[in-house]
Amino acid sequence: MSILPRFVADVMLGSLSRWLRLFGFDTLYRNDFTDRELIKISLQEDRIVLTRDNALAMSRLLKKVLLIQSETIKEQIKEVLSTIPISFDLLSLRPRCPVCNGETESIMKEKLKGEIPDYVAFSNQEFMICKACGKIYWHGTHKDRIDKIKKEILKKLK
Ligand SMILES: [Zn+2]
Repeated sequence: MSILPRFVADVMLGSLSRWLRLFGFDTLYRNDFTDRELIKISLQEDRIVLTRDNALAMSRLLKKVLLIQSETIKEQIKEVLSTIPISFDLLSLRPRCPVCNGETESIMKEKLKGEIPDYVAFSNQEFMICKACGKIYWHGTHKDRIDKIKKEILKKLK
């Protein structure tokens, strides 16, 4: 498996960041990153800067930057994915936590007693927990919706 590209996104790209995390990409985002911080993080951690800002995209300090042109989230995701050589199955990547970018892992339902509502425990078998913030995710309608959008976007890329 090839090494996945990692990103750092500017303040305009909050939802794109959450989506890239759900796809499984390590994506840093804060709603108060300054241009200086974005450049520093990009260089220090070898991350691609995602930005809506022409001036930043033109910066000669940056080696890796992608100017996001579209306003809509699906198009934005496509813009990112179409620039990376995809030699792996995107749908097989483990999602990262959309809230904090932490890695997630599967967790047994039995370990979640008292942490999730009964009806959720009853109607779901697979659970994930964020190793960083502890947020719990399950494969309900939310997951299905996300997978549907993922497939839709991937189909358009081909
Ligand atoms: Zn988290």
